[in-house]
Amino acid sequence: MSLYITDECINCDMCVPECPNDAITMGKVYYEINADSCTECEGFYDEPQCIPVCPVDCILPVA
Ligand code: SF4
Ligand code: SF4
Repeated sequence: MSLYITDECINCDMCVPECPNDAITMGKVYYEINADSCTECEGFYDEPQCIPVCPVDCILPVA
């Protein structure tokens, strides 16, 4: 029930304001999603809001 950001992240910051749970923050090298906070936007939206705004498609579901 959470997503993660791969090392292809270019630190563009586009996804951060989209998150209703403030689950996305800058990590040591690139942005990270806090798995305890990410609900895949359940309760706010029908679909994850961060995925479509990412220009390099580096936000993926946890397998
Ligand atoms: S799926 Fe929703 S809750 Fe999870 S990180 Fe993306 S915007 Fe935030
Ligand atoms: S939108 Fe994508 S590339 Fe930009 S900071 Fe978020 S995860 Fe990284």
